[in-house]
Amino acid sequence: MSDCLFCKIINREIAASIVYEDDRVLAFNDINPQGPTHVLVVPKRHIATLNELTSDDDQIVGELIRRSAAIAKERGISEGGFRVVFNTNRDAGQTVFHIHLHLIGGRSLGWPPG
Ligand code: 5GP
Ligand code: ZN
Repeated sequence: MSDCLFCKIINREIAASIVYEDDRVLAFNDINPQGPTHVLVVPKRHIATLNELTSDDDQIVGELIRRSAAIAKERGISEGGFRVVFNTNRDAGQTVFHIHLHLIGGRSLGWPPG
């Protein structure tokens, strides 16, 4: 999608610190990290919010989650723990309308979130 920030990162029109890439998934460091690890894991195919998911997307959503666990393991935070979040629409504070999994860890995280 031409006016989507994360599509532009996927297409290398905007730079990002990329930590993982395959045919379907891109992961990059968040520009405003909320912990020692804060990685965004996104599908290369544009999907605006979780509300647009269909059963055709079950595979890619599973891949995003499994990729986040793999990155957490690489970074040595899988045993200590980490959090994954998909913010959706206004009340959750979604600001980029291309679904993205936040992988946050490397510190003790409060619950519930604000
Ligand atoms: P949301 O609020 O939509 O769940 O999360 C959007 C995230 O994208 C925020 O954590 C924000 O810091 C991050 N972000 C916004 N613009 C950029 C950018 O240009 N590059 C990177 N790497 N992250 C961005
Ligand atoms: Zn997009």
